[in-house]
Amino acid sequence: MFSFDDYREIIRIIKSTGRGCNSYREALGKDDFILMRHDVEYSVKRAYDIAKVETSMDFRSTFFFQWTNNSYNLLSKRNQDMIRDMHERGQNIGLHFALNGLTDIDLIKAQIKKEIDLLSNMLDMEITEFSIHRPSPDVLRANIKFPGIINAYQDDFFTFNENTTDESKLEVKYMSDANHIWRYGYPTEDNIKGNKKVQILVHPFGWTKQGYDNYDNYRSLVREKYEEMIDSIDKECKDFGEYRDGFIDGVTLK
Ligand SMILES: [Zn+2]
Repeated sequence: MFSFDDYREIIRIIKSTGRGCNSYREALGKDDFILMRHDVEYSVKRAYDIAKVETSMDFRSTFFFQWTNNSYNLLSKRNQDMIRDMHERGQNIGLHFALNGLTDIDLIKAQIKKEIDLLSNMLDMEITEFSIHRPSPDVLRANIKFPGIINAYQDDFFTFNENTTDESKLEVKYMSDANHIWRYGYPTEDNIKGNKKVQILVHPFGWTKQGYDNYDNYRSLVREKYEEMIDSIDKECKDFGEYRDGFIDGVTLK
């Protein structure tokens, strides 16, 4: 589970229906669509890798990136290069907005606008889509909409229902893989084909070529971040080289 082969199977099913939409804009107003969405937590590299799986199958989706997380720097040169490359290959780029304690809807709207403008400016591309990180029921109920901007949770793409289960028949079927648990069903052939409107949320950090269980996935993620830190120090500090191998050997995460 959670290997790129498993992911390819989901994409294969979506493509076989002929109803897959590459973007929210394309799906807007249709009464028949399947959308894939990615909220990017922890690692831009993992988003980049799953984006390559998609483009190799001639499929596109939307990747939402977060400014205010504490585990990746959206503006690092390396991350910007990967995001630009994804964009050039036809992937859509959006904002993953973290509430960070905000509850007032007007303040939330103002902050979303600010972060979208910042992202557009810094990446030199027009950002017009956003998703919300861990949205509260109040925020979902508010159905936030702006002219010209798409909210992945607006009522066109998400049916708000306080007591949703796997069995609920909602206007939009929503499936999400948060922490390796598919809370509203797995994107099987039946779940994808049996609903007219479908939105699937896949968090790229949980997916790898070989596919790990939740625990080993976190281990592999920590290992990647650790190596990235070692590389960063190595590049900045010419004296670090002599310690470098010792640091790598000293880590038992595999
Ligand atoms: Zn999130």
